[in-house]
Amino acid sequence: AKKLGRNNTQFYQPAMNEEALERVRIETALRSALERDEFILHYQPQVDLRSGRIVGMEALIRWQHPELGMVAPYRFIGLAEETGLIVPIGAWVLRTACAQAKAWQDAGHGPLRIAVNLSPRQFGEPNLLASIAEVLEQTGLPPSCLDIELTEGLFMNDVALAVELLHKLKALGLALSIDDFGTGYSSFSYLRKFPIDVLKIDRSFVSDIGADDEAAIVVSIIALAHNLKLRVIAEGVESAAQLEYLRLHGCDEIQGYYFSQPVAGDAFEQMLIEGRNL
Ligand code: C2E
Ligand code: CA
Ligand code: CA
Ligand code: CA
Repeated sequence: AKKLGRNNTQFYQPAMNEEALERVRIETALRSALERDEFILHYQPQVDLRSGRIVGMEALIRWQHPELGMVAPYRFIGLAEETGLIVPIGAWVLRTACAQAKAWQDAGHGPLRIAVNLSPRQFGEPNLLASIAEVLEQTGLPPSCLDIELTEGLFMNDVALAVELLHKLKALGLALSIDDFGTGYSSFSYLRKFPIDVLKIDRSFVSDIGADDEAAIVVSIIALAHNLKLRVIAEGVESAAQLEYLRLHGCDEIQGYYFSQPVAGDAFEQMLIEGRNL
């Protein structure tokens, strides 16, 4: 009886198997999700603080699972990354997002920038450049309207290689953003070397506006970005107080629930039609 006590490893075995099984189940389902067209994109507005107008949007993937309903990306992106499935999924995201942005442009909504998240695994794919160039050509979206979001982790492995690849991406005419800025390592050393256009202040810093200390980080990132001639976008803006603080300190754009959650394409288009602004 003692063997079945709380600290016996056997006690945890079923739970581990359950978890492993769950992973296999998700992986199998992910494989067929693309074929069955179960992914959709939601779009979250990026709003210019000077004009108050929507100037772009970030494409965020969701999985409409036949039984589980709407599955948030944190539940499958990690596994998609590990298994490499993020490569075909990411290609679908890029194509769909660019086609949507072009359609809104053609409908007369002006030049809108579409931001697309690029995972580390995609960054390492040999045909990344060719596939992005192909999507731009096939959709007809002006390259200047595409903004690729990268995280700092990408630059850790081989800096020289990363710099080279980033320059090649820039040569396509698109914009490059550093996502979740401030949460990775070596934030400062690469900023000069890398041809980036935008810093996105991580939500964790924005949510601390109100507590003196932490807001100093937001102010510093804005100053840093502007000194380096970069645009700066604050993520996760949820309140009028945060918005005013960011405006006061010269932040260029905001993104967050205060203006809008990420929404389906038709709801986003409705905001454009109504000319919704801050
Ligand atoms: P992220 O790139 O940092 O995206 C921002 C996340 O913050 C989104 O979560 C968005 O819904 C959420 N958010 C936006 N405004 C607010 C706010 O005011 N308050 C709060 N609490 N949250 C806010 P989401 O859509 O669940 O995506 C989570 C993460 O999944 C993304 O973080 C990104 O890392 C990843 N992801 C989403 N779509 C894709 C994709 O197409 N490809 C890849 N590789 N990763 C993706
Ligand atoms: Ca992002
Ligand atoms: Ca982010
Ligand atoms: Ca994040």
